[in-house]
Amino acid sequence: MRVLSNKLAEGLPDAHVVWCPACKILHKFYVNSFGLNKARWTWNGDINRPTFSPSLIITISSGDKNKSDIRCHSFLKNGIWEYLNDCTHEMAGKKVPLPDLPDWVLKHHRVNSDA
Ligand SMILES: [Zn+2]
Repeated sequence: MRVLSNKLAEGLPDAHVVWCPACKILHKFYVNSFGLNKARWTWNGDINRPTFSPSLIITISSGDKNKSDIRCHSFLKNGIWEYLNDCTHEMAGKKVPLPDLPDWVLKHHRVNSDA
């Protein structure tokens, strides 16, 4: 993983990585390569206020057959998450600024770090 800014990192292979405050995990946008299901996104090239297109749909298994899976359906535009109404998490229908990546990403993967 290569940190591009406090908001954006680049994983391998060519997956741009951001933090989702709703799911509380990293989400990946595949820009230069094809991800699962041959999904591919465009990126505006902005490392601080990124826009990826089209929308991202993530399904996270609850790991419990008695609980439904979590669905996260969002746009990331100019550094703002736009969570659509069909999300099953608490941020459905809200716009939330893209938070900084968690410390474990920033501290351990920063390029040219003195640490
Ligand atoms: Zn999410």
